[in-house]
Amino acid sequence: MIKQDSNELRKKNDFVYIAAGAQNARAFYVEGMEAEGVLNPLQFLYDVKNEKSTGLGKRVLIIGGGNTAMDAARTAKRLVGVDGQVRILYRRMIKQMPANYEEIKAVLDESIEIQELINPLSVSAVNGKVASLVCQKMKLGEKDTSGRARPEPIDGSEFEIACDTIIPAVGQDLAFDFINTKKLDANNYETELPGVFIGGDALNRGLSAIAAIGDGRKVAQLIIDSCGIDFETKKNFKKADTDYRKLMIKKAKRIKSVGVSETSLNQRNNFNLIVSSLTREETIEEASRCLFCDEICNICTTLCPNLALFGYQHQPFTAQLSGTETKFELTQVPQILHIADWCNQCGNCNTFCPTSGAPYKEKPHFHLTQESFNNDSEGYLLVGSASEMSLLYKNNEDMCSLTENSEYFTYFSEKVRFQLNRQTLDIEDDKSFTDKIEKDWKKAVEMCVILQGAKQFLGA
Ligand code: SF4
Ligand code: SF4
Repeated sequence: MIKQDSNELRKKNDFVYIAAGAQNARAFYVEGMEAEGVLNPLQFLYDVKNEKSTGLGKRVLIIGGGNTAMDAARTAKRLVGVDGQVRILYRRMIKQMPANYEEIKAVLDESIEIQELINPLSVSAVNGKVASLVCQKMKLGEKDTSGRARPEPIDGSEFEIACDTIIPAVGQDLAFDFINTKKLDANNYETELPGVFIGGDALNRGLSAIAAIGDGRKVAQLIIDSCGIDFETKKNFKKADTDYRKLMIKKAKRIKSVGVSETSLNQRNNFNLIVSSLTREETIEEASRCLFCDEICNICTTLCPNLALFGYQHQPFTAQLSGTETKFELTQVPQILHIADWCNQCGNCNTFCPTSGAPYKEKPHFHLTQESFNNDSEGYLLVGSASEMSLLYKNNEDMCSLTENSEYFTYFSEKVRFQLNRQTLDIEDDKSFTDKIEKDWKKAVEMCVILQGAKQFLGA
């Protein structure tokens, strides 16, 4: 897309969403690359799809470890015939390839050789046509900024691979110039141009189709919100089978996927579909395995080796402090307490949290003993008797408490003292020494929720 087109689009539309993917093969140059027989991977795949001539030879080298490299290799394999050969060269190890596991497995299943730790140095040509690729062997060194071990050349290890076709597939770049791609931020869909959004591969250079669809949905919501339109898109839809107990039992069982059938390896020398679709019944069976993680996750509570994360339930509610705009909203039933005494900070929960949370740091720290409470800088402790329980909270030097009896909750902090109505959680009987009580009120309501969790944990 050229600038003129984009200006026209912006004139005619209030918002523009760019979901054009990354359509340019990333430039890759070693000496001799201009020889006949070096093919652009995307053009190659496009030509094959459109049944055009590609210029593919019989001895094909693919350079790269991403999904496009795998696609190019499997496509070439189907075209070179039984007397042809397709090989993938990668400068790191197979386990470090960015391609999807399924793609790499399919490549290996289809007898395409992957040569690891090989770096191309130059193309040798005869009469302007590719004749071989000069390569160098590599070894893995220290980790680089991507967290992967950096490949380093081994001196004197140069060697030559005879070939007639080379397809460098080392990544893809954006194919438009009307926004400054250097200013794109993977966590922000808005571009520097007002009203122009970007998502999918065009923004993050290649995650999954699911991630791209998710980007589209989020951008649609951003646009709807910015227009002030109420489509009720954020409505909480109650799902069919989200009974807490039933769902936790379901999560404890392993139900295997129905799986899909694949064409046998000896029948893949064509472009027919390899993976067949599920039948209607299989689709329903597969979908019924869903664990509704968006409704109840609780993964951290199931994998903590010390049982230091406790899942409990609290009905969602919204409370408002009368005479103010201040609200407290509890939006979901499942809640989690971190049992500080039992946690050895192994970090497992951090590693496996699907939302990149750190439950052992972020969830309320509930202490089981006065000693543990005293030794920590922040957390909660439950004291008192069954008829009158108090939840204490400290954050370094600041202390507060919430006491529950059959009629109300009483909250104390250094300057604030009030009672909360048990039904509305609004303040009654305020005896505070300050009128700035919004922050304390929010803390008090939060402590009402945590108190219920602490009681469920202790069976009180
Ligand atoms: S903290 Fe993470 S793992 Fe635990 S319930 Fe929430 S999303 Fe799931
Ligand atoms: S860090 Fe603590 S809460 Fe998290 S898994 Fe380890 S012991 Fe459990």
